[in-house]
Amino acid sequence: MRVFFYMIFKIHILGCGSALPTLQRNPTAQYINLQERHLLIDCGEGTQLQLRLNKIKFSKIDFVFISHLHGDHYLGLIGLLSSLHLLGRKKTLSIFGPKKLNEILKSHFEISGTFLSFKIDFHEINPNKSMLLFEDNIFKVTSIPLNHRIECTGFLIEEKGKLRSLKKDAIQKHKIPIEKFHQLKQGEDLVINETIIKNDLLTNPSPKPRSYAFCSDTKYEESIVPIIENVDLLYHEATFLENKRERAKKTFHSTAIDAAKIAKLSNAKKLLLGHYSARYNDLSEFEKEANSIFKNVIAVKDGDTFEIELINEE
Ligand SMILES: [Zn+2]
Repeated sequence: MRVFFYMIFKIHILGCGSALPTLQRNPTAQYINLQERHLLIDCGEGTQLQLRLNKIKFSKIDFVFISHLHGDHYLGLIGLLSSLHLLGRKKTLSIFGPKKLNEILKSHFEISGTFLSFKIDFHEINPNKSMLLFEDNIFKVTSIPLNHRIECTGFLIEEKGKLRSLKKDAIQKHKIPIEKFHQLKQGEDLVINETIIKNDLLTNPSPKPRSYAFCSDTKYEESIVPIIENVDLLYHEATFLENKRERAKKTFHSTAIDAAKIAKLSNAKKLLLGHYSARYNDLSEFEKEANSIFKNVIAVKDGDTFEIELINEE
C-alpha cells in the first residue's frame, strides 16, 4: 500500500451547531480544499469569523454550496459576499443553492445599493433529483436530495480518477514506443511482436479517487444510500440523541443512530456527526449511541479538520 501526501483533500469544520449558536458551536459551515480547489459548504452566521480563526483567506473561495434556506445554513452569506466586495474581489464566484437564494441576494444588494465588484455565477439546484452540479478535471459535485421541512440538498464531492503512471525502468527495458504510452496509462495490455505484455508490468496503479458527502439537514432517509455508496468520509447531521427521537421526527432531523444506520448501509469508511441541538453539551454521547451501529465515528467540533488520505491499493 502506497500513501501519497501531496494531493490535499481536507475538510475544515467551521461550524457544527444547529439553529441556536452556543459559545462552543457556530451554525453550519465547512471549508474544503481539494487539490487547491476551494469550496465553502453552507455559510451560517459567523462564518467570516470562523474563516479568520482558522486562517483561511476569504479570497480563496471559488465555490459556495448552500444546502437550504434555514437561517443557520446561509445567514452568513450576505456578510461574506459584502466583505469580498470590500476586499475588491474580481474573480467570479460560483454559488449553487436553492432558486430563492438568488432572489434574496439580488434584493439585498439592490436595496443596499451595492454593486458587487465581482460576478456571481448562480446555479439553481433542483432539490428533487440527484444531479451533477459541477465538474472539472479535478473533481465533481453531485447533489443529494435530502428529506427536511423545506427543500434541502446534500453534496457529494468526488475526486476525478487519475491515469496509471508508467514504470520508467520497465518501459526502457521493453523498448515501449512513446505512442503506446496513452494506451498504457489507461490500463490496456500491449501486444508487441505478437507477445502480450501485461499492463501491470509497465505501470503503477492509479490512486483511488476519494470522496466526501455532506448530508445536513435531513431526517432518516434511505434513498440517499445509493448516491453516497462507499464514500470515504460521510458528514451526517445528528441533531438529537435517542432521548429526543420524537422531536427529531417532528422537525425532520436525525439522531446519532439514524446517521450511523445511513453510514452502515452506504458502506462509508468513516462517519462525522454534527449539527447538534444547542441543548447538548457532552458530545461523547453522540459517538456512544452511533457506535452501537457503526464503529468509525467522530462527533466533530468547530475547528476540527479531517484529511482524506490518498491511498494506492496494490
Ligand atoms: Zn434546517
